[in-house]
Amino acid sequence: MTNKIFFIANWKMFGDLKSLKSIKRVINLSKKKKFLNAKIIYCPPYTLLNSFVIKTKKSRITVGAQNCHHKIDPGPYTGSISSNMIKKIGAKYVIIGHSENRLNGDTNEEINKKIQSAISNNLSVIFCIGENMTEKKNKKTNLVLRNQINLGLRKIKKIDKIIFAYEPIWSIGTGKIMSNNELKKQILNIKNILKNKFKKQKNRIVYGGSVNDKNIINLKQIKEINGFLVGGASQNSNKFIDIIEKTIN
Ligand code: PEP
Repeated sequence: MTNKIFFIANWKMFGDLKSLKSIKRVINLSKKKKFLNAKIIYCPPYTLLNSFVIKTKKSRITVGAQNCHHKIDPGPYTGSISSNMIKKIGAKYVIIGHSENRLNGDTNEEINKKIQSAISNNLSVIFCIGENMTEKKNKKTNLVLRNQINLGLRKIKKIDKIIFAYEPIWSIGTGKIMSNNELKKQILNIKNILKNKFKKQKNRIVYGGSVNDKNIINLKQIKEINGFLVGGASQNSNKFIDIIEKTIN
């Protein structure tokens, strides 16, 4: 891993103002020289976005939302937040296509509209893709990833604002991770799909799914990965710091 290494913390539906205090250590460490190569992005729930932006202002940490509505203009969409609102509050990223939201009804078409909306608002997108266990067992992973990429990125010409997050659904929150060989194969497979679609454009792919302070030693061996999307373990700052330090050391 030579370029910037991404460490994306997905806090899901966890956290309050009290837990915000716990990131102080991450903020302090992020200012150290040896962390210069680490790009740390916190994605807290909407309720904490503003507080995170304020708290991380003088640091190298950036903030992202966990989802957005596909409509850009304000409108009668109860409970929704637009990419424009996310941008205005000072966040720079938004996670789109997370499997937990795909389970709640986000189709590839809906995800495509969300990505278009986010990019038109100059937000960077953390675009989640990945197969479930049945698809894996039926050897459909390739097809699923190809479809998610092709349909999710319809009309998108440039991928400089997109970080791809390969998150096998069966790995999220389960403690199960595929072997390094298999993971490397899947990352190369995604790179290949992207190369065919976007030619020589640079791609960035992070891995997500049960990353923790122990298995990171093994995962960081895969040079083709540009970083990690961390759910559960990112809510504990000590573990998150451990993951970052063990990767960059
Ligand atoms: C996630 O929700 O994106 C994720 C990777 O979760 P976990 O690290 O808990 O598996």
